[in-house]
Amino acid sequence: MTMDRDRPAERVAEHHARGRGLTRIGYPIEVRPATVSGIDWVTPRMLRLTLTGDEIAGLHSYVADDHVKLVFPLADGTRNDPVPAEGQMLEWRRPHPPTRTYTIRRFDRAAREIDLDFVVHDAGLASDWARAATVGAEAVIAGPPGAKAFAHTHRHYVLAVDTTGLPAVARWLEEADWLADAGAGVDVLIDHDDAEETTYPLPERDGVRLRWLDRARGSRLGEELRALDVPEDTFVLGAGEAEDLKQVRAWVSEHGYAASITGYWKRGVAGLDD
Ligand SMILES: Cc1cc2nc3c(=O)[nH]c(=O)nc-3n(C[C@H](O)[C@H](O)[C@H](O)COP(=O)(O)OP(=O)(O)OC[C@H]3O[C@@H](n4cnc5c(N)ncnc54)[C@H](O)[C@@H]3O)c2cc1C
Repeated sequence: MTMDRDRPAERVAEHHARGRGLTRIGYPIEVRPATVSGIDWVTPRMLRLTLTGDEIAGLHSYVADDHVKLVFPLADGTRNDPVPAEGQMLEWRRPHPPTRTYTIRRFDRAAREIDLDFVVHDAGLASDWARAATVGAEAVIAGPPGAKAFAHTHRHYVLAVDTTGLPAVARWLEEADWLADAGAGVDVLIDHDDAEETTYPLPERDGVRLRWLDRARGSRLGEELRALDVPEDTFVLGAGEAEDLKQVRAWVSEHGYAASITGYWKRGVAGLDD
């Protein structure tokens, strides 16, 4: 099915200002080479890589949870990166290269830079790559494919995530100057596995209640959501471990809230979104 990928910035802005709930707006999708130009341990478990490249100037990114795919070489070390195709899309040829998805934490068009924040975990293609990366390392990024834009017209927002959702939450809070005028409240719930992760810097805003939840005995998103007192007109963003998000989906469907809930990874499964 073809998708309208024209004027994405204007269409996202229009939905933010006057829409309701969630809508998908396609971006022209491209594949770009980039170089690691900065490495910063934001917390002992979150590694920020800055990627730079001339072609990053042409990237589209208008919502906080926009994401790119890092495209890795095939097992034999050769590359089979996607190529531009009709309809402002990419063609992925066989064998499909391994990919992993990361949120654009920061996009600076003038500097031709993006920041990606990696939760560094025991072992994984992307996590290991990020940990071993040095300035000058090459990367290939595909996307972002489009926005899952949610309107700025709701009375309340609940962001229920684990640490893989922190880049999206941080960018959303950073870009939410409209919140004060809208008079909307925000609850942010974050499952984490290690106390060190709670030092991740999140922009402060009036009307935002933030709670870090220790996941040592399992996700606490469900019980914390059930304890919330939120208005009927609430929008819910959920992102994190796929099984843990079942509790979020259940709460959302029980109350009929508008929502965008995405399993970012799944325990025991490599490359869930590959
Ligand atoms: C839209 C979207 C946006 C995302 N944004 C981000 C982001 O900004 N930052 C980020 O860190 N992740 C993000 N993710 C999640 C990330 O893509 C996955 O965690 C991915 O599996 C990591 O790849 P890997 O190669 O390191 O591990 P894989 O090779 O995919 O997995 C290897 C093993 O590690 C486990 N594993 C994977 N991720 C984690 C984790 N976070 N903690 C513990 N164990 C894990 C798997 O269950 C598997 O057993 C996003 C995912 C999506 C779909």
